Order: sequence, then C-alpha cells, then structure tokens
Amino acid sequence: MDYKKLIAAIRLCGSTPGVEQCKKCVYWEDGDIYRCIPKMTAEAAEAITELLAYKEQKEIAVNPFEDDDPYIECCGICKSGEYLRNEDGNRNVFCGQCGQKINWDALDALSDGEERKGK
Ligand SMILES: [Zn+2]
Repeated sequence: MDYKKLIAAIRLCGSTPGVEQCKKCVYWEDGDIYRCIPKMTAEAAEAITELLAYKEQKEIAVNPFEDDDPYIECCGICKSGEYLRNEDGNRNVFCGQCGQKINWDALDALSDGEERKGK
C-alpha cells in the first residue's frame, strides 16, 4: 500500500473535487463513486489498522539493558544506548532511536546501586 497516494486521495475526495480532478486520483473507476470511494476507504481502514498495530507494539515497554548484561544501558529493541536519556541525563519514556517505550522500572528493580555505563 502506498500511504502517500492514499493520503492524497483522501484529501482530494474530502475536498469535493470536480470530475477532472477525480480522473487524476489513483482510485479513479471511470466516474463510478460506488467503486472508487469504497476501494479507497477500505485501504484507508487497512492503513489505520496497520498504523495502530505499529503504535501499540511501540507502547510495549522493553528493558533498558541487555538481558545478559544489565550493566549496559540500551534499548531492548534497537540495542542503542545513545538515546535513552535526554541531554540532561534524564530518562526518556521512549527510545529516541526506534521509538520503543522503555521499562525503567525493570532497571530500578535490579537495585544494586551501581552506576551503569552507556553503550
Ligand atoms: Zn530503541
């Protein structure tokens, strides 16, 4: 699915275009709005579903360290430790590299008091 073409088609359709504008739409079906609009809205629903699944997957918090080495801070998904904290060293809620939510409670639960090093 081409998201950009879908976005353009939704915007065009929502602007109540004339037939000449509709002819340029990727969903054009020889002027039959009972075919082009359902096709476009079905793809729009599919796109939103995919984006929602992606968003929900990113909201599953992962540990901010390697399972085999809890002393190295890194994102459990992209393994980068560079963007887990902001410039002041404060914890980010989401990894700045890949956008995954970070479960800082898992790090706190280790409670060994030792300073961790970045990756
Ligand atoms: Zn990441």
